Amino acid sequence: MGGLKESWKETGKDLGGAFKQLGKSIVKSGATAVNKANDWAERDDAKEAARKEAEVMEAQEAREAAKTICPECGAELENADAFCPKCGAKLG
Ligand SMILES: [Zn+2]
Repeated sequence: MGGLKESWKETGKDLGGAFKQLGKSIVKSGATAVNKANDWAERDDAKEAARKEAEVMEAQEAREAAKTICPECGAELENADAFCPKCGAKLG
């Protein structure tokens, strides 16, 4: 039975080495993945974020343009009528 024990020891050593190699390659591929992710984030994501930001800004500008500020009470009125619905002041 001693031989079996010895061979297990050898197997353990082999496994240890294999795990060390595996660990190294995981660290390596992990670093590669992070680099790729950074690359991707810098290119497509930044472009996408900029595009979305521009869209939001445009929408905000359109909303601002449609907004009327009541000269009497200062209420921000969207699609306001001729009179302020809050204080009744004449608009425009
Ligand atoms: Zn008003």
